[in-house]
Amino acid sequence: MYSEFVKKLKKILEGLKNCAIIPHKNPDADALGASMALYVFLTKLGIKTKVILPNSPPSYLEWMISKYEVISYEKNPQESKEYLSKSEILFAIDFNSLKRIGTLSNEIEKSRGQIIMIDHHESPEKFSNLFLSEPEIGSTCEIVYNIIKLINNKFIDKEIATYIYSGILTDTGSFKYPLTSGATHKIVCELFKKGINHTEIHERIYDNFSFDRVNLLATALKKMKHIKNLGVVYTILSNETLERFNFQKGDTEGFVNFGLRINEVNLSVIFIEDKNENLIKISFRSKKQIDVNKFAKKYFSGGGHKNAAGGFSKNSIYETEKKFVSSIYEFFKL
Ligand code: 5GP
Ligand code: MN
Repeated sequence: MYSEFVKKLKKILEGLKNCAIIPHKNPDADALGASMALYVFLTKLGIKTKVILPNSPPSYLEWMISKYEVISYEKNPQESKEYLSKSEILFAIDFNSLKRIGTLSNEIEKSRGQIIMIDHHESPEKFSNLFLSEPEIGSTCEIVYNIIKLINNKFIDKEIATYIYSGILTDTGSFKYPLTSGATHKIVCELFKKGINHTEIHERIYDNFSFDRVNLLATALKKMKHIKNLGVVYTILSNETLERFNFQKGDTEGFVNFGLRINEVNLSVIFIEDKNENLIKISFRSKKQIDVNKFAKKYFSGGGHKNAAGGFSKNSIYETEKKFVSSIYEFFKL
């Protein structure tokens, strides 16, 4: 799969002048890391490249983009449109469906550029001209690293290594999730040789809570409900609670994982009211054979991976909770 893809990509890169890199909406460290690593690499190859984000990242990830002029479509739609209309190639990074980039998808559909998708989510939709989809790999950063290495190993420097490590770190749950492999660790070993500061990267991403954020977490944990016979926990953060703790983008990141620390709990869910989008965003995390990708797809218009997925509900909190409880009983009986 890799060699075939890389062969075609190499050919495309040879004559390429302009390209855009687009990660998914609400970008995480994997989407940003893979995009920025690719950005630095393509720039080194002499290709005019810009990263266009559907919206801005949370503040704790700003360091990943702050060195360069990265465009946010939400903030600068006109500039994004103009750049996209000139781009010969659009790299779609860390997403498998145009739905995952929100309204930016309208511009992509209008653009004459060819789309190249690089991703690790299951069941990719057909929106690209060329793609590398590797659902067995834990992060898009790992895939991008392998691609860059195959094209030109020499260009991997400390900066690229830092971006790649950030995405591997977060998308493997700090090397915990089942898709973390020996190959992942081997890559990390190569990144260490490039001089990455893993402690600093970890601190930037994880040790950065505001006091409000700690209290929001405490509230989420306090409100947690336990369906003991199914090994399921869930918690709901209403808009009112979020406002009480001065919610900032990214503050709820990782909260859902706490539920899985409980003995015998194999599924943890968080519902977060989003007043701006007028919906409830849902995150699912599971252990073992519980396939939350299937669950999210079937009941909450979402998807993702077997053990980490997301979805949403347009109903009220009350209705959403009711639907969740009944569907979880149905799902566990299947
Ligand atoms: P999170 O819960 O951190 O938002 O997302 C977990 C995983 O599920 C990520 O890999 C993310 O890309 C995917 N995901 C989150 N929300 C959605 C959604 O609404 N639809 C789909 N298809 N995937 C989602
Ligand atoms: Mn990812």
